[in-house]
Amino acid sequence: MSSLNIACHCGNVKIRLTGEPVVDLYCHCEDCQRITGAGCVPYSIYPQAAVEVTEGDTMRWALKSNQRTRCTHCGTYLFGMPEGMGIHGISAYLLPPGSFKPQMHIMCKDALVPVKDELPHFAGFPASFGGSDEKIAW
Ligand SMILES: [Zn+2]
Ligand SMILES: [Zn+2]
Repeated sequence: MSSLNIACHCGNVKIRLTGEPVVDLYCHCEDCQRITGAGCVPYSIYPQAAVEVTEGDTMRWALKSNQRTRCTHCGTYLFGMPEGMGIHGISAYLLPPGSFKPQMHIMCKDALVPVKDELPHFAGFPASFGGSDEKIAW
């Protein structure tokens, strides 16, 4: 199975991603906005078992319920762990250029700024992630 090795900004933390992402997406939820200071956050979603921190010191915390992991040294946001979903959302800023292939926007009901593009804009989560498939028209 293919694997991809990524690192934080300072190189202290190394992460191995095994196999292909389940989906690449932008999350517009309030939680992601607050912890990153961004309007929306690009994620590459992997099954929990496909993500392994192979080196370095990480710190973990939660704003509300979703656990977040950063590098202890440089503070780079590494991944989020949405509660009870068995997945890790890898910050797509860590990926090699060109490998992030977004397929959708999620949690658009919380969006600060509409992002108008040809991708589907789900109000919450799509049905494949336990949501309703309701979309927002921007
Ligand atoms: Zn670091
Ligand atoms: Zn989010």
